[in-house]
Amino acid sequence: EFFLARIAEHDAKLNSFITVTAEQALSVAQAADKRLARGDAPHLCGIPMAHKDIFCTDGVLTSCGSKMLANFTAPYDAHIVSQFKALDMPMLGKTNMDEFAMGSSNESSYFGAVKNPWALDAVPGGSSGGSAAAVAAGLVPFATGSDTGGSIRQPASFCGISGLKPTYGLASRFGMIAYASSFDQAGPMAQSAEDLALTLDVMHSFDMRDSTSLDQPKPDYIAALYQPLAGLRIGVPASYFGEGLDAEVRQVIEAAIAEYEKLGAQCVAVELPNQAHAVAAYYILAPAEASSNLSRFDGVRYGHRCENPKDLADLYERSRAEGFGIEVQKRIMLGTYALSAGYYDAYYLKAQKVRRLIQQDFLTAFEQCDVIMGPVAPTPAFKLGEKTDDPLSMYLADLYTIPVNLAGLPAMSIPAGLVQGLPVGLHLVGPYFSEAKLLNIAHQFQ
Ligand code: GLN
Repeated sequence: EFFLARIAEHDAKLNSFITVTAEQALSVAQAADKRLARGDAPHLCGIPMAHKDIFCTDGVLTSCGSKMLANFTAPYDAHIVSQFKALDMPMLGKTNMDEFAMGSSNESSYFGAVKNPWALDAVPGGSSGGSAAAVAAGLVPFATGSDTGGSIRQPASFCGISGLKPTYGLASRFGMIAYASSFDQAGPMAQSAEDLALTLDVMHSFDMRDSTSLDQPKPDYIAALYQPLAGLRIGVPASYFGEGLDAEVRQVIEAAIAEYEKLGAQCVAVELPNQAHAVAAYYILAPAEASSNLSRFDGVRYGHRCENPKDLADLYERSRAEGFGIEVQKRIMLGTYALSAGYYDAYYLKAQKVRRLIQQDFLTAFEQCDVIMGPVAPTPAFKLGEKTDDPLSMYLADLYTIPVNLAGLPAMSIPAGLVQGLPVGLHLVGPYFSEAKLLNIAHQFQ
C-alpha cells in the first residue's frame, strides 16, 4: 500500500509505469502476510517489485513499449517472472521502456518518455528507463531490466541506482521479448549492491526452455559481499579516459578508483585495442538479429492488425507500418540490408569477426586484472529531446557498455558521485561468472 500510494502520487510526473497492477499486488501481499505469519516464508517474500514491460506476465498487458503490442495480454509468464512469483513478491506493475528496447533515452516508447527523477527535464536513460526512474524515486524497491547494449547500466548510471547485467546465459530469456537474442540479458536494478545480490540469487536459474541458459553453480552472493578487497587488481584502460569523456565525469570516476586504492586495490594499465569498433559492429549485428526476431509481428497471430486489409501483403505491410515506431523501422531496414545476399559477407560476417576480437581483448586484459573500471556513459543524463534529431550521437554514447554485450561478460553500474546535480555511475566489468566478485567490489564501495 505504501508503494502503490507513492506511485499514485508521483508517477503522473515521471511516467515510469505503463501498467499498475494494484489489485493483483495487494492480493499477493495478503498471501505473503499469511506465509510470513506461518513462519515458513522464503527470503524476499512480500517485498514489492516491478517488471520491465519486455517480460511476459500472464494475464497482464505486455507491450514492450510498442503500439504493436499495445493490445497484447501475455498468455504465460516469463521464466524470471515465475521465479519471483513463487516467492509471493507482489508485482506492482510493468515499467516503461524504449520500444522493443531500442534506445538510450526512453524517448522511443509508444507510451511517452520517462522523466529522470533527479531533473524532470532530463532523460532517465534507456532502454530500462522506467525501471531505473521507479527505483530511484522510491516507487518500488526493486525492478527487473534487460541489457542488450547497456540498457540496465546506462539508466542505472543516469538515475543514481545500481544495476547488474549478468553473464550471458545466467538468467533465462524465456518469455523475454527478443531484441537481439545473442546479446539480450535480464538483470536486476535496485538501490544497493546488497539488494542486487538478493535478487540475482532469484534470477540466476537454469531453464530448459532457453537453449542458451547455462547450468552454472550458484555462489552465495550475499556471503561474498563482505570479502576484503586487499590485493584486488583493477584494470584501467587508457582509452576509456580519452576524447569524448566529459571532464567532470572523468574526475568522479578517477576519484572512485582512488577510493578503491585506499581499500587495498591496485591499478594496472590494460589495453582494449579493438573497442573503437564496438559500436559499429553492434549496429550491424543487433539490427540484423532484430530484423529476424521482429518478423513474427505480422498482424496475423497477435499484436496490432490494420483495418480492412485488401490482401495478405497489405495486411503485413500496413500492420507493420502502423505498429512499429520510427526507430524500430529504421533498425529492421538496417538489419535486413546487412543480412541480404551480397552484403552479408561485407557487413554481417565482418562484424562477427570484430565481435570475436573484442571478446579476445577482454580475455587478454583479464589475465592481468580482476575487474575493469571506467565510466558507464561519457556524460550524465542529457536533456529530453536533446539527441532525438541526432541518432548517431545517441548511438556513440554507448561506447563503454556495448563491448561488454559483444563479449557476453557481466558488468555493473554503481553510483559514484554527482556532476552538476546529476548522478554518474562507475562501470565494473568482470570475467565470465564473476557476478559475486562484482557485487563484493560494489558493496565495499557503498
Ligand atoms: N542503446 C542501445 C540500443 O539502442 C542498447 C539498448 C539495450 O541495451 N536494449 O540498442
